[in-house]
Parts: sequence; structure tokens; C-alpha cells
Amino acid sequence: MLSTMQDAPLSIATLLRYGSTVHGGAEVVTWTDFGAQRRSYAEIGRRCAALAHALRGLGVTGDQRVATFMWNNAEHLEAYLAVPSMGAVLHTLNIRLFPEQLVHVANRAEDHVIIVDPTLIPLLAPQLPQLTSVKHVIVTGDTTAGLEAPEGVQVHAYEALIADQPTEFHWPEIDERSAAAMCYTSGTTGDPKGVVYSHRSIWLHSMSVCMTDGMALRQGDNALAIVPQFHAMSWGLPYAAFMVGASLLMPDRFLQPEPLVRMIAEARPNFAAAVPTIWQGILHHLENHADDVSSMKTVVVGGSAVPPALMHALEEQHGITVLHAWGMTETSPLASVAHPPSSATGEEAWRYRYTQGRFPAGVEARLVDDTGAVVPSDGTSVGELEVRGPWIAGAYYGVDAPEKFDDGWLRTGDVGKITPDGFLTITDRSKDIVKSGGEWISSVELENLVMAHPDVLEAAVIGIPDPKWDERPLVAVVIRDGSDVTPTQLKEFMVGRVAGWQLPENWVRIAEVPKTSVGKFDKKRLRTQFYDGELCVEHV
Ligand code: ADP
Repeated sequence: MLSTMQDAPLSIATLLRYGSTVHGGAEVVTWTDFGAQRRSYAEIGRRCAALAHALRGLGVTGDQRVATFMWNNAEHLEAYLAVPSMGAVLHTLNIRLFPEQLVHVANRAEDHVIIVDPTLIPLLAPQLPQLTSVKHVIVTGDTTAGLEAPEGVQVHAYEALIADQPTEFHWPEIDERSAAAMCYTSGTTGDPKGVVYSHRSIWLHSMSVCMTDGMALRQGDNALAIVPQFHAMSWGLPYAAFMVGASLLMPDRFLQPEPLVRMIAEARPNFAAAVPTIWQGILHHLENHADDVSSMKTVVVGGSAVPPALMHALEEQHGITVLHAWGMTETSPLASVAHPPSSATGEEAWRYRYTQGRFPAGVEARLVDDTGAVVPSDGTSVGELEVRGPWIAGAYYGVDAPEKFDDGWLRTGDVGKITPDGFLTITDRSKDIVKSGGEWISSVELENLVMAHPDVLEAAVIGIPDPKWDERPLVAVVIRDGSDVTPTQLKEFMVGRVAGWQLPENWVRIAEVPKTSVGKFDKKRLRTQFYDGELCVEHV
């Protein structure tokens, strides 16, 4: 029997219409050289219509791809909303890809138009001649910033292009399963792979972001979206903000601790989202500067494991609650958030909060061992995490990757355990686990322990070859300026907190842990440095 309910498609256009009318007074604030630049959601709605008309005028039809090469700002938000709403597909290009990766992904996606920030022209322009499908480049702002395009490519200034366009658009009705946006993984462990989101998946994911046990985003919030719009859709914040009328604070290219902290002090957001390394930087900055971050109440942190020491420092020194979350580009990305059960208090609540969180109803999860057998979610059995659900990728764009899927489940490449009440603990990425004498050592656990030492700023652990044990952990540690703590003392600090055989005997002091394009510890680079003999290893 069919239901008697209406079959209204879940579409980005609905979010755009709703946010720009019912919440027309909410704002997106972009940080600039001259401070905050404000734009209401009502104005965003009008500019989205104008942008859609302009793109139609450039010949964008059907599901053609419109790419962005941009920082987080109001114009990027306009592209997020206008492009899918008109039926085209938004492709967020990672501005920090290697040139050959950028050429590869833009050609593969057959991008027709690229919207670029003037400050990023030097990164894009050299590759433009090789971007075979691109016909138009739109430079945000009033001018084309001197961009000279190769033959066959037209260059436009964003403001001039939308200036005389109508401020209403008849958004077409779109099948909710059609593509709305695409994004490549950041390639922490391999080559970037493309994921294509549907209108439906984005809608359902946005609802999950706004749920109380998700990120609990709501009307009246002022959310600082530090996580880039070119990385995993800024964790869904732009669409979720339009869904509930939360205002957005966009940091543009001002991503260092000093401007971020100034932004917080002046624009007074109460919510933010970013990877752990950003918060480590902010915390370090606040040790020497008395900026007012008292408006900030909740920060969602994920993308890599959040060290408990970071959670405690933010909460105890600055009154900021860290919500630890887990996800992947392939999972839209929010797939679990660590809200402790209401019955847990004190230490028990903290233990829940250290985990990668609890799965919502829309994400089914299971663990699988080396033989492919499902292992129980009993809180102790360890296996590779597999997930499925309406906002989880079921394939990659343009490539066959059967090894990444298992009978309809996405193989995450993450190894961990799940409690019977659905809390996930990631012990490692399968590629980062240290395999010592047939036993596994969690690089994340060792990193968290070392980073719990007050004189340590950062620590990353990789496995290095060992004639007796196959592999042993190497700790690359960044020691706080002025401290004379030694690796031997750090190792002693770990005694009793981890099994004796896991205590690392290989240490290297470095000035900074190398980071990926999105600020994760770049263990690929660390391994290369080790094999190239660039690291001066101390054995303790
Ligand atoms: P990439 O795989 O290139 O890094 P993503 O940015 O999509 O691309 O990263 C997803 C991965 O990030 C996950 O598979 C997991 O390994 C890691 N990750 C995300 N959140 C967490 C977290 N809270 N704790 C540990 N690892 C995390």
C-alpha cells in the first residue's frame, strides 16, 4: 500500500527559499582586511537568484558542474545554494591540492565554470590551460584581478556578472536523488577520491547536524565555520545554517590563531567547527594573549582524533565545550557525535566524550575482522568500521573501487570498537596502525598520551621497520619553547598509562608536525622524511 503523504522532493532550493525568507534576518559575516562584512540571508537569497540567472546566461544547463576555488565566505555560500538549486552540480575544489591533482579532479568532474577568489588566482592560473572542460572563470569581487585566461575561456567579474540580473529565480523541481554537489577526499592516506552528494542526502544530513544530539545547531546561533567549504562541505554547516536560521561567521583566508581569536572577540560567535590542530594553535595563542573568547560555548572538533588534553584545556581554561565528532567526506561528513548519555556524570561522562561518539539513527555501523567476518559491538572487540545509510556514499565518482565497499557497506579504513549503546572509539586508521610482533599498537593512543604532557605541543606516531618486531612506534614530538624535557622523561611519563611493550623507544624532536591540506597530521610525509633519513632518531 502506498502512503497518502505528499511526495515533496527534498531539495537545496527548499533550504534556500526557507532560509532567505523565514530567517531573512540571519546573517553571513565574512572576515576581510577591513573587519566584518555583513550580508543578510534575505540578501543572499536575492544574490543567489542573480547568480543563477548569470550562470544560465553563461550556458550552464542541466547537471553541468560549477566549481569553486575559494575560501569560506559569503560568495562561496551563494555558490553552495544557487548552483544545486538551479539543477547544476557544485564542485568544491580543494585549493591546496597539488597542481596535477587539481587538473585531474577538475577534468574528471568536467567542470564547466570555476568561481575563484582573487587571492587564489596565482594557484589556479598556471593550471587553467590544462583544464579542458572549463569555459568560464568568474573572479569574485568587482574586477577580474588581471586574470588572463587561455584561449576559449572567458573571464568575468562576479559582481558585474550578477549586477543587473533579476533577483528572483524560478528554481526548477529536481529529483531529490540527483546530484547536488561533489567533493574529493583530502587524500590523507591515498589519492583524493570523488564523492557526489544528492539533494536528499544533503537534506537528511543537515537535519542530523541540527538535531540536539548532532551538532545542535539552531536559530540564533552564530557559527564560526573554520572547517573549509572545500573540505567535506564544511561539515554541512552552510546548509544546516539555512535550515534553521543560524548565522554564519566565515573566516575567509584569515586562518591563523591571531586573526581567528580577534574574529571571536569582535564577532562573538557561540559555536565553531574545526580540526584539532586549529584548536591547538588557538589554545597556544591564548596562553600569551588575553583575548576575549567568552562568547564561544561549543566547538565541534573532528577530522582526526581529539586529544583529551585539548578537550580539558579548552573547557577548563576557557569554558568552551568540545563536541568530539567523527566522519568522512564519504559520510557527508557527520556520522557520529560524542554527547554522553544523560545518565553519565563526572569522569564517566568524560570517558564518553573522549570517544568518537554515538551513531544517529541514519548511520548504521558494524565492525569487520581481517577475514571479513562481523565482530560484535561489545565495546572490546576491534575491527574495521563499516557504515551505511542515506547520507553515506555507495560509490566513488568515475572510478570503480570495489575494495572500498562490502555488500552495500562503506569500508571506512578506520579501525575501532563500538559499545552496545552505539559509541565508537577509533583506535587508528588501518594504514597508521603500528604492527609490533603480531600485536597492534594504536598510534592515536600513544599520541594522546604524549600530548597529555604539559611540555608537549604536538606529537605524531608512525610505525618504522624493526628487525625483531617488524614494526615499532616512532614518536615525532614538538616540545614547548623553553622546556628541556627529554624523550626519556616523556617515556617515563607514559609508564603505567600504556602496556609496557607499547612504550615507544624511538623518538625524534621536530619543530612542527607536517600537516595535510586540511590540517591533519601528515603521516605520509613523516614516513617519507624518516625513509629519506631526514629525521634524527633518538633511541631511549
Ligand atoms: P582523508 O581520508 O583524505 O583524510 P577525510 O577528510 O574525508 O579525507 O577524512 C576522513 C577520515 O578522517 C576518517 O576516515 C578518519 O580516519 C579521520 N577522522 C575523522 N574524524 C575523526 C575523529 N574524530 N577521530 C579520529 N579520526 C577521525
